[in-house]
Amino acid sequence: MIEIDGSEGEGGGQILRTALALAIIRGEALHIRSIRAKRKRPGLLRQHLTAVQAAGAISGAKLTGDRLGSDELRFEPGAVRHGEHRFAVGTAGSATLVLQTVLWPLLVAPGESTVVVEGGTHNPLAPPFEFLDRVLLPVLRRMGAELELELLGAGFYPAGGGAVRLRVVGGRPLHPLVLDQRGAIRRRRAQAIIANLPATIARRELAVVREQLGFEHGELEVVMLTGPGPGNLLLIEGEHDGGTELVSHCGEKGVPAEQVGARAVAEWSRWHDAGVPVGEHLADQLLIPLALAGAGGFTTLAATEHTRTNAALVQRLLGVSIVIDPQGPVRARVSVGG
Ligand code: AMP
Repeated sequence: MIEIDGSEGEGGGQILRTALALAIIRGEALHIRSIRAKRKRPGLLRQHLTAVQAAGAISGAKLTGDRLGSDELRFEPGAVRHGEHRFAVGTAGSATLVLQTVLWPLLVAPGESTVVVEGGTHNPLAPPFEFLDRVLLPVLRRMGAELELELLGAGFYPAGGGAVRLRVVGGRPLHPLVLDQRGAIRRRRAQAIIANLPATIARRELAVVREQLGFEHGELEVVMLTGPGPGNLLLIEGEHDGGTELVSHCGEKGVPAEQVGARAVAEWSRWHDAGVPVGEHLADQLLIPLALAGAGGFTTLAATEHTRTNAALVQRLLGVSIVIDPQGPVRARVSVGG
């Protein structure tokens, strides 16, 4: 039985998602307590419960404690069940974070699956659809994975009501990957996504990117999406020799568009000026696939508590060493395996 204290380190939802995914891969029972103990509303919220249920469905698991608000869970997985799966978060809770839970076991076990998750597709504190599609999945394909992602409908916080579909062919070996070089930024663009809100919001956000980063007219785009509620997200994306980075910030009621623009610009600049290929979010999302591949490494921004917590857990559950070496105040090298 794998015993996890969910209050360790960062004490958030990532511990739960990583533990579920790796328990299925190891084929071992999991007992996790103090789930999300360091969050304002601890325990299983709707989104986490959906992740638990999804992990249960793809592995025929026996579950105890799988209810809203629960801070303790027992999870006894069986073999991975490939096929057609459909999960609904039921609120604007993040659909992409549910995918982040089931993706790894489905990639490892031989077979093919299509997974549809209904819920939020563009949420604060979660990867937006575009991040998975343009940043994470291309890296996984370079490692040998076969998978595709499609946005079936946009769901913005707080209305939700979107859906994403993942097709994954499991059982292909994942190859080690090293991402240390960034090189020049070959292409960059900023997209202000807007649904059921005036386009002026998007244009004001893009104006900040133009003024502060010198993006040209052809690099700026307003993207109008339809969806059940109002929504807004600013993306700044750069393609470089080592891959793609994309930073994103959600528009919020009461936060002026200029401030949303300034936040995204600040995050972009932090990554850009550090000269590293891997951004803060890709760093924590690459730990599982590199550990599954058995080796690899990357240069990234100074490690967040999020990355450190996930690294410690992945190292423990997959028995692959993960070393985070600070390289001055803003950069770090993460080495996985050997
Ligand atoms: P947690 O805060 O523990 O629920 O985990 C959040 C997850 O979402 C982590 O894997 C983060 O890397 C990821 N994430 C949060 N915000 C973003 C963002 N703007 N872009 C990409 N990934 C994100």
